[in-house]
Order: sequence, then structure tokens, then C-alpha cells
Amino acid sequence: MAGEPGDSVTAIDAGQQVEVTTCQVCGSGEREQLFADPPYRVLRCSGCGLVYVSPRCHGEALAAVYGESYWRSEKPREKGYADYASDERLHLKTFRRRLRLLRRFLPPGRLRVLDVGCAAGYFLRVMRDEGHDVYGVELSAAIARHAVEHLGAARVHVGTLHSAPRDQGAFVPGSFDVVTLWDVVEHVPDPQALLHEVRSMLAPGGVLVLETQNVASRWARLLGRRWQHYKHEEHLYHFDPNTVRRLLEQTRFTVLHNTWTYGGKYVRLSFITERAHRLHPALSFALKPLELFRDGNLYVNFGDEMVVFARPAP
Ligand SMILES: [Zn+2]
Repeated sequence: MAGEPGDSVTAIDAGQQVEVTTCQVCGSGEREQLFADPPYRVLRCSGCGLVYVSPRCHGEALAAVYGESYWRSEKPREKGYADYASDERLHLKTFRRRLRLLRRFLPPGRLRVLDVGCAAGYFLRVMRDEGHDVYGVELSAAIARHAVEHLGAARVHVGTLHSAPRDQGAFVPGSFDVVTLWDVVEHVPDPQALLHEVRSMLAPGGVLVLETQNVASRWARLLGRRWQHYKHEEHLYHFDPNTVRRLLEQTRFTVLHNTWTYGGKYVRLSFITERAHRLHPALSFALKPLELFRDGNLYVNFGDEMVVFARPAP
């Protein structure tokens, strides 16, 4: 029996984790278990196909996931990044490449840009260098300090979008030509609330750019439970083109485009070694999409990310 989306959790473990009983997108309580990785279970909603994790961290336990050890993780296969900030050059290169795609959908001229979940501010630095007026929001103080250092405290709010001050000429509702959510929506317990807030920040004609992993991609299906995006503390949801469209339409967006192209990233050779361990049986297939660059890094696109462009529905 379907319940109300967002009204679906009960505390089970002293407030550290909650059991999720209904689907966040369609409200159905019917689901099948894809696999268990105790204490977590990965479930697929029978109503809409959303893949989600239960139980999951919440509140302070969830916020604690994104401390210093998330951005310099000793176990990046399970959580976070090996060393996010030391890969600065690669992140900048990845976003410069994505700019080619963005230019097809963004309005011309100098844009007001808001990156929600801006991490160290790499995308914003790329956009600033293109002449745009850039602002960021980042919940994790551990990584936001890099963004503040490069862009200034007036342009980076450390906290949630909801808590960003609306009265300082920076985070003004209705003023942004583009809002980006790079690898954010799958981490957020209530993505509808976030998307409603994002919509309120967009100017007329503004564009939302949302990137998230695609659980229905060939790569994800081939790897099954070994897929690198199954990181249960942080990835609460795994969308596909249908569920992300439904989520966006629920929050009164119209999807303009959804593509896996430009969803790749530049990585170090050591990243390949680390992944090869996880991918062992499929290693030869894994090496196929690699594109070798002369300065020692690789552009990798497994086709398992979606870059979605959307516009507020009239
Ligand atoms: Zn559902």
C-alpha cells in the first residue's frame, strides 16, 4: 500500500540509523531486495524502480560521514575519496571538459551560477575563469575551506542551501541562471525538498544541471553488487533515467536532456589499479573505454553517470 513520500522512516538504532519503509519517489512500500551488505540492504521499489538503501544513516550520523576522513579516505572503495583535494588538477580538467556539454544548454552571456554541494569549489573556479558570477553551498566544512580559500567567504556558504542567508545579495531566490548538483542528489535524504529549494533559486529561463549515477546502466548491471557506487553510508538512492525524471517532474521541473556523455572523469593511474581490484572478473572489458592522455592521467567514462538538464515547468 502506498504511503506518502517523505513519511517513510522509523528510528531503529539510538538515532544513528533509520529503517526506510516506503519509496521516496512513489511512496510504495512494495520492494524487492537486490542484495544485503549487513547492516544495509539494497532494495528496488516495485512501484517505480527506485533503488534505495535501508537502513541508512541520518541526522548527525549522516553529517558525520562527510568529515575529514571522507575527503581523505583510507577505504575509498567503501566511502569517500582517496584524496579529493590532491586531485585538484584532475577535477578542474573534468569540469572544463563538461563545459563543452553545458554550453549547449546554458544561456549566453555572464551567468549567475550556484553550485550546490560545491566541495572544494572546482566547478565554480572553472566557471569563474569563464567570466561567470559564481556561488557555492557546501555542507562539509572539511572540504568547503578549499572553496572559501579560492572564491572568498562571501561566495561560499558552509551549510545547506536551506540555511544559506537570503539577504546578502548572494543567495538571492530567483536570481540564478544555472544551478548545478554534481553528485549530490543521491546523498540527500529528502531530494524533493532540495529540488523545490533549487527551483526557487532559479531565474526565469534558468537551467538545472543534475548529475547522478545510473543504476540501470550496462556497467552497473554487469558489476551487480560490485558496482563502485554502492557505498551505503553515503549513496542513499540509485536513480535511473525513469526515476530521476519522475523525481524532477514531482518537483515541477521539465527534463530537457539526459546523457551519459561527459559523465566521465579524469583519474590517476592509481585509481585504475584500485578499481581493477573491485572489477577483477570484468577487467578486460573495463579497460576498453579508457582514453589515454599524454600527461599520465586517463579520461574514464563507464557510461554509468547521467547528466540531466532540466528547467522549471511553467
Ligand atoms: Zn517507488
